[in-house]
Formats: sequence, structure tokens, C-alpha cells
Amino acid sequence: MELLRPSDLDELDGGVLLAGGTEVVPLLRDGLLKTDRLVDINGLVPHGIAATRVGAGATLAELEVDPQVPEALREASRLAASPQLRNMGSIAGNLLQSTRCWYWRLDYPCRLRGGDRCHARDGEHREHAIFANDFCASAHPSDVAAALLALGATLRTTRRELPVRDLYRLPTPDDRRTTTLEQDEVILELDVPPADSSTYLKAMDRKRWAFPLVGVAAVRRGAETTVALAGVAPVPWLLESSLDDATPLPGTAYKVQIAKALVERARAAVA
Ligand SMILES: Cc1cc2nc3c(=O)[nH]c(=O)nc-3n(C[C@H](O)[C@H](O)[C@H](O)COP(=O)(O)OP(=O)(O)OC[C@H]3O[C@@H](n4cnc5c(N)ncnc54)[C@H](O)[C@@H]3O)c2cc1C
Ligand code: SF4
Repeated sequence: MELLRPSDLDELDGGVLLAGGTEVVPLLRDGLLKTDRLVDINGLVPHGIAATRVGAGATLAELEVDPQVPEALREASRLAASPQLRNMGSIAGNLLQSTRCWYWRLDYPCRLRGGDRCHARDGEHREHAIFANDFCASAHPSDVAAALLALGATLRTTRRELPVRDLYRLPTPDDRRTTTLEQDEVILELDVPPADSSTYLKAMDRKRWAFPLVGVAAVRRGAETTVALAGVAPVPWLLESSLDDATPLPGTAYKVQIAKALVERARAAVA
């Protein structure tokens, strides 16, 4: 395998983009990602935080302590992963991490991999989705994405500007991808607008270093509060309807109760 360090974004020509490597390296090690070319983009993307602008290469460790960053995003970063991973992991890489569905991680030929069966729906699924889980029942693992969704953040890539919500798509039989990013399209920076008040609450199996069973971001501007969730659907989930509209699987019904409690607490915290 070759490792490239291009000096210009125009030189990109296939391969797997590498930022902090905390997701890419384990996937390569486990044989779940196959490539003969890794492209280190650390020297190509902006780093750091300046007012509402966050470089794609900013680490979660930087985000969690920067007073310019809205509370919901700071807290979502602080509650993610471990200190070592947050020191290496970039915000862009976090948004693009793959599902933690254990069938997918064990290389089962499931629907998300192009197969015709969701093994989780029929099998073990206590960590899986309660919304949009018909085709693939995976639960999106990014705390950070839920916070950015509630904050109404936008992304600038090498090709376009888009709201964070448009970065994601639900997989379908015709197209199994969960993001809209194209080959060689690079996230350059984010714009994270300020809020009057915001928070991020997270339920997890351990107090630290665990993916969200349910994560809830609430953001208030004036009289309006926006709520987004992690760990409840194959993509980060903007809560536009009632949690009573959830369609849990037998093993994920408990998540609806957790989500209801956290949403109530998060709304109260930002009121
Ligand atoms: C054990 C463990 C626990 C974790 N726990 C949590 C958790 O609780 N909550 C949570 O939210 N996350 C969690 N994470 C995820 C972690 O935050 C991410 O792995 C990390 O942020 C990824 O960033 P990276 O820079 O290392 O990405 P990389 O591994 O370098 O890249 C990840 C993906 O993003 C692509 N990519 C990276 N940068 C760009 C860019 N600028 N433009 C386009 N594509 C790009 C890569 O090609 C790759 O597909 C955990 C990870 C691990 C391994
Ligand atoms: S939940 Fe999605 S990733 Fe997991 S087995 Fe089902 S189709 Fe595959």
C-alpha cells in the first residue's frame, strides 16, 4: 500500500483519504476497508477554530475546550471516545465514521454491504435504531453530528456548500451509501452559528468511552428550540415529529423511553 501526501487538492486522484486515522486504520487492520492508496490530507485541510469557522482538521480535543464553540458541540466532543482518540480524531472524520453495527463490523453480507438481508433486524439489535430502520437498522454513532445538526451548521467542501443534514442520506436498495460525499470530495471547513443556549446529553453503557445509545442535542434561538439525536437512526436524526412516532425494534424499545427523558431534560436545560 502506498501513502501519498499531495501538496495540492487538485492532485487528488482516488484512494482513501486519511485525517487522524482513528477510523480508517482499524477498518484497514480488520480488512473491512481495502485500498492500495492512502492519501494523507492533513496538510491540505484547514485546522483550528476562528469564531464560527471550524477547520475540517480541528480535533475533538480542540473543540471540547474552545469557548468560541457552542456548548452543545463542546459537550458532544467531550463525551465522545477517549482522550487519546479525541486528540487524533478530526471533526470531518467523525462525521464520516462508519456504522458500529456489529454485523457490519464482522463483515456480514448485509444490506448495507449490498446484500439482501438486515441481520440486525432479525438478530441482535439492542444498540440499533428506532427511526427509519426498515431497510437498515443501524444507529448513527456520531455525537458531534447530532450537535451540528441541531445547531444548523453548514459544510464547505471542495465542490459545494451544504447544510450538515444534506451530508447524510438513508440507504436504499439502489444506493447503499449513508452520505452524499463523492469520491475525492474533501470537507474543508464548517460554519457553526452561535445559539442563545445549547446542550448535549448522552446515555451510554459506561460513564465514559462508549458510543451513544441515545444522544440528544438541543439548541435554542429566541423562542425556537431545535432537537437532534444520535444513536437512533442510520443517520443523525433531526427530531421533527414526536418520539411517539418512533418505530423501534423489539430490542430497541427501551431507547424511546431514554430519548423521551433526555429530550425533556435537554429542552428544560436550554429554556
Ligand atoms: C473506540 C472508539 C470509540 C469512539 N467513540 C465515539 C463516540 O462515543 N462518539 C463519537 O461521536 N465518535 C466516537 N468515535 C469516533 C471518533 O470520534 C472518530 O473515529 C474520529 O473522529 C474520526 O476522525 P479521524 O480524523 O481519525 O478520521 P479518519 O479515520 O482519518 O477518517 C474517517 C473517515 O473520514 C474520511 N475523511 C476524514 N477527513 C475528511 C475530510 N476532510 N474530507 C473528506 N473525508 C474525510 C476518511 O476518508 C474516512 O472515510 C470513536 C472511535 C473509536 C475508535
Ligand atoms: S443494521 Fe444495517 S449495517 Fe447492520 S446488519 Fe442491518 S443492514 Fe447491515
